[in-house]
Amino acid sequence: MLTRRHLLTATAAALAAPLGARRLWAASTLTLGEVQIDTLSDGNLVLPGNFILGGMPQEEMQAIVAKYGLPTDQLTPPCNVTLLRDGTNTVLFDVGAGPDFQPSAGKLMEALDALGLTVEDITHVLFTHGHPDHLWGLLDEFDEPVFPNAEHMIGQAEFDYWTDPGTVVSIGEARTTFAVGAARRLEAIAETVRLLADGEEAVPGVTARLTPGHTPGHLAFEIAGPTPAMVLGDCIGNHHVAFERPEWPSGSDQDPDLAAATRVALFDRLASEGHAIIGYHLPEGGIGRVERAEKGYRYSAGA
Ligand SMILES: [Zn+2]
Repeated sequence: MLTRRHLLTATAAALAAPLGARRLWAASTLTLGEVQIDTLSDGNLVLPGNFILGGMPQEEMQAIVAKYGLPTDQLTPPCNVTLLRDGTNTVLFDVGAGPDFQPSAGKLMEALDALGLTVEDITHVLFTHGHPDHLWGLLDEFDEPVFPNAEHMIGQAEFDYWTDPGTVVSIGEARTTFAVGAARRLEAIAETVRLLADGEEAVPGVTARLTPGHTPGHLAFEIAGPTPAMVLGDCIGNHHVAFERPEWPSGSDQDPDLAAATRVALFDRLASEGHAIIGYHLPEGGIGRVERAEKGYRYSAGA
C-alpha cells in the first residue's frame, strides 16, 4: 500500500547524498543483553560559540576548547537520535529537528531509511525535552505525527512548561521561536501524549530520570541491562567544557545554575556506576563512557 507518507519518505531517501558521499549512518551501536541501541544522525547544528560558551571564565574556557581542536566562535555539534530495539518495541528518543529549524539538521528520515526502517515501524517516541533540535521533527507538513503508530511520551513538567501560554513571554526574546514552535507541536498531540513522572517506567526497562535545568522538565532515560545505559539528551551537552567543568554555568541551559547542579550530581553517579552514556550532542555517534580525570571528567567514545 503506497500512502502519501510512504511517498514523502521515499522521495526524501531518493534525494539523499549519492553513494560514496553518503554520511555514515548508525555510526555507533551498543548491545545490552537482548536490547540493541543504535544512534541515528539527524545532521548537526550551527551555533554561535557564545550560545554555549558565554558566561564561562573565558581564558580557561578557551584553553579547554582548544585542546579538542574546536573553534570558539562557532560550534557545529552533531545531533544523535537514539534508537532502541528489544525484539518487541522499536523506540526513538527524540525525533530530530525536522525541516524548519536549520538546513544542516533534520536528516533523521535518511538515517532510518539506511537501516531499513519505516516511520510505521516506530512503536514509541520518548522526548528528553522540547527544544527544536529534539522536538520539531514530530509533525509532517500536514501537521500529522510523522510516526503514525507511535505512542508519544514527554515529562509532565516539560509538557506543562511549553504549553503554558505564559512561557512565550517569560522565556526571553532569544528563545521566543522555541516556545511558539514547541507549543504548536505539543498541542497537536495533547490528546494522546503520555506524560511521565520522575522514576516512571516509560517502556519495559526504560526509566525516566528528571534532570532539570537545561529545560524545566528535562528527562534522561535509564536503560536497564547487564551494563546500564543513560540516554542523556542535553543534560551533558558537549564533550569538552561540560565534562571538564560540569559546575560551570552554560548559556545553552535555560536555568544555568540548576543545570550545573544536575550535571555535577549526574557525572558522579555515571562515573561511579559505570553507565554507558548516549549523548545527543556528543561526538562519534554519541555512545561512550564517563571517566574521572584529574580535574572533572573525560569523555571516552565507544561502546
Ligand atoms: Zn539539543
